[in-house]
Amino acid sequence: MTADPVTASSAAPGAEYADTASAAYQAALQVIESVEPRIAAATRKELADQRDSLKLIASENYASPAVLLTMGTWLSDKYAEGTIGHRFYAGCQNVDVVESVAAEHARELFGAPYAYAQPHSGIDANLVAFWAILATRVEAPGLAELGAKHVNDLSEADWESLRNKLGNQRLLGMSLDAGGHLTHGFRPNISGKMFHQRSYGTDPETGLLDYDKLAAAAREFKPLILVGGYSAYPRRVNFAKLREIADEVGATLMVDMAHFAGLVAGKVFTGDENPVPFAHVTTTTTHKSLRGPRGGLVLAQPEYSDAVDKGCPMVLGGPLSHVMAAKAVALAEARQPSFQAYAQRVADNAKSLAEGFLKRGARLVTGGTDNHIVLLDVTSFGLTGRQAESALLDAGVVTNRNSIPADPNGAWYTSGIRFGTPALTTRGFGAAEFDRVAELVVDVLNNTQPTQASSGPSKAKYTLADGTAERIHAASAEMLAANPLYPGLTL
Ligand SMILES: *Cc1c(COP(=O)(O)O)cnc(C)c1O
Repeated sequence: MTADPVTASSAAPGAEYADTASAAYQAALQVIESVEPRIAAATRKELADQRDSLKLIASENYASPAVLLTMGTWLSDKYAEGTIGHRFYAGCQNVDVVESVAAEHARELFGAPYAYAQPHSGIDANLVAFWAILATRVEAPGLAELGAKHVNDLSEADWESLRNKLGNQRLLGMSLDAGGHLTHGFRPNISGKMFHQRSYGTDPETGLLDYDKLAAAAREFKPLILVGGYSAYPRRVNFAKLREIADEVGATLMVDMAHFAGLVAGKVFTGDENPVPFAHVTTTTTHKSLRGPRGGLVLAQPEYSDAVDKGCPMVLGGPLSHVMAAKAVALAEARQPSFQAYAQRVADNAKSLAEGFLKRGARLVTGGTDNHIVLLDVTSFGLTGRQAESALLDAGVVTNRNSIPADPNGAWYTSGIRFGTPALTTRGFGAAEFDRVAELVVDVLNNTQPTQASSGPSKAKYTLADGTAERIHAASAEMLAANPLYPGLTL
C-alpha cells in the first residue's frame, strides 16, 4: 500500500516530501509576512487551530500539501475563458494541458464519458448543470430578452415570466429537512427561482428515503429534472432506482454527489450506489470527502456534454487555472490504492461513531449510518442544535447544527448535530478513536444545561458544567497528538 499523502505515516513517499513541503511553507509565509503580516499570522493560526481541534464537520477535510502547494502559483495569473483548445485569450497552451489532465483524471476515476473541470465551487457546478439541461431539453430559452436587466433587479413577476419563457420547468429534489441542499430548488437560492420546485422526503418512522413516495411525486409533478444527492442524509441512495423513476416520467436525472464523491472515487459506493453510470449529469465539489482543493466538477453523459462544455460563458467567467491544476493533483491522488483504503476507513469510522452514540443511549436520525455522516438528534439531551453546537465548540469539538426531519426547533436553531468522518480519518483516526469521540460528545451534551433568557426560554443559551471543557480538551489533545496533522510541517 502506498503511503497516504496527507498523514504520510512513516512510509515513503509522503514522509519524503513532508520536509520539502515544510520548507516551502516557511518560505511562503516569510514572503507573505513582508507584505501583510496579519495575513501570515492568520494563516499560521489557522493551522494551529485546525491541529488542535476535533474537526467533525462533514463537508470539510484536509487536502495534501501537494494539492495545497499547487494552488499557490502563477497559473492563477492567466485568463483562459473558453474550452480546451478554444479560448477567448491568447497563450493558453499550458492551461489547456492543466484542464485536460484534470478532466482526464476525472473521467478515469469516475468512469464518466465527459468531465468539465472549470466550476469554481459546488454551487457553480450545479448552475452549469441546470443551464446545460435547460439548453439541451428546452427549445429557445429566450433569455436574451431579459438581458437588459441585472438579475438582482428581477421582480417576482419577472421571474415568473422568465420561468414561462423557459417553459415553466419543474425540479424535484430532496427536501432540506431530509438532508437536501439549498441548490436543489430552495427559495433563497436561484435554483428556487429558476424552477417550480417540489421536494421528496424521508419516511417519518424510519427516516429513510421513501422511494415509493418519490416515484408517486415524480409521476404527479412530472419534473424536467429529478435531483438526487444530499448534504445531511446519513444513508446510501439507490441511484438505479432514481434513474428508473426519472425514465418513467421523462426527467433528466441529475445527481449532486458533492458530499460523497470521495466514497464513489474510493469505490465504497459501487453498483446501484454509484450515481455516475445512472445520472445524465453528475455534479460534485472537490473539497469534501474527495479531499481536493475548493472547487467543482461536472460529469455528463454524451448527450449533455456539449451544453455542459458551455458552462463558460453561460454561467462562468475565466476558470481558476491554479485550482484546476490542484484538482488534477487531487484526482491523481484519488486514483491511488491508498485513497480506496482511506474511503473505506471513512465509512468504517462513521459506523464506529454511530455505534458509539447508540450504545451510550443517544438517538440518531435513521438509527445509524452507512456513509460518512452521522446525524445526532439532540432533543433527548433537552438541547437545541444551536446550544449543542456551541457547547461542543467550547470543548474543542467542531461540528455544525443541522435540521432533522420535522424539526421542532426550525431551520435556525435546529435539533440536530451533523458529524462527518472524512477529516479526522485523514488524520489517521480509526474505529477506537471514533468510539472515544462519541464518548466525549455525549459527555459534553450530558453536562450542558439550557438556560433561561431574561425574556423567557432561549434556544441559544446554555451552561456547560465546570471542568467539562477542560476534561474534553485534555482527552482530545491526546488523540490529536497521536494523529498529527501534516506531520513534519513546522512553521
Ligand atoms: C456543499 C454542497 C454544495 C455546495 O458547494 P460549494 O462549493 O460550497 O458551493 C452543493 N451541493 C451539495 C449537495 C453540497 O453538499
